[in-house]
Amino acid sequence: MRIYTHHACLEHDPGIGHPESPARLRAVMQALDEPRFASIERIEAPSATREQLERAHGTEYVDHIFASAPSHGLAQLDPDTVMSPGSLEAALRAAGAACAATDAVLARETRRTFCAVRPPGHHATRHEAMGFCLFNSVAVAAAHALGAHRLDRVAIVDFDVHHGNGTQAIFRHDPRVLYASSHQMPLYPGTGAASEHGAGNIFNAPLPPGAGSGEFRAVWEEKLLPELELFRPQLVLISAGFDADARDPLAQLQLAPDDYAWITQRLCELADRHADGRVVSALEGGYDLEALRECTAAHVAALMA
Ligand SMILES: [Zn+2]
Repeated sequence: MRIYTHHACLEHDPGIGHPESPARLRAVMQALDEPRFASIERIEAPSATREQLERAHGTEYVDHIFASAPSHGLAQLDPDTVMSPGSLEAALRAAGAACAATDAVLARETRRTFCAVRPPGHHATRHEAMGFCLFNSVAVAAAHALGAHRLDRVAIVDFDVHHGNGTQAIFRHDPRVLYASSHQMPLYPGTGAASEHGAGNIFNAPLPPGAGSGEFRAVWEEKLLPELELFRPQLVLISAGFDADARDPLAQLQLAPDDYAWITQRLCELADRHADGRVVSALEGGYDLEALRECTAAHVAALMA
């Protein structure tokens, strides 16, 4: 198992009081400092290339993000999404981590990978930054697996409490990608109804505020995992958001760290059956620092097992 990260991901600073703070990644790294994780190989994430970014994002959008990076102060891209002087480098390393992890698992250098990166990515669409996200790292990695490695079937599994509208929008016409998401509804960004099917490759399981472990496990067990099983992915990518934990301040689902261990284990079993065990997981949300630490530890321990 490998962890991909980069210190530049700490230098994206959306400002005092913003929930997507550098302290989040410090909490994640603290979790990974536990002795039980000492044997995991740590790799410095490269920057994503223009070619990699432009498989998932428009050229003009990539230009816009490069041009919006401020040399000092903050640049506001949407009501929630801010760039500081360190943000461009952080976003490039985040997307680059997911691509490098994809390369490594496809080269059979390792089977399981976790990208400890920020900013998150799953709200970023082909042409738009939103919801704290600049580049959609997991979508960039999926497009890299299709474009550079010629895979035919890539699964993106998203258990962040918010719907990954950007990921869904990028791949809704591409049946080579299956997107499966559980998320709270109603909640930002408002998409993710069960009726949104794309090209038959989109599977959404919205959960009402207050839903907990039982409801979460039931939708994966009864709806989403069976679709993933039928799809037989050659690679499993995870948008690993930990903001469905009961302690999270931005949402009202009631999960516990053990639920993240459970879903991770099920996804590893899926990958073992169909994808030679290949899993690339990348951090998305999670805004209670203690919950983020505990859920990351549960997730990585299950990836390692
Ligand atoms: Zn989220």
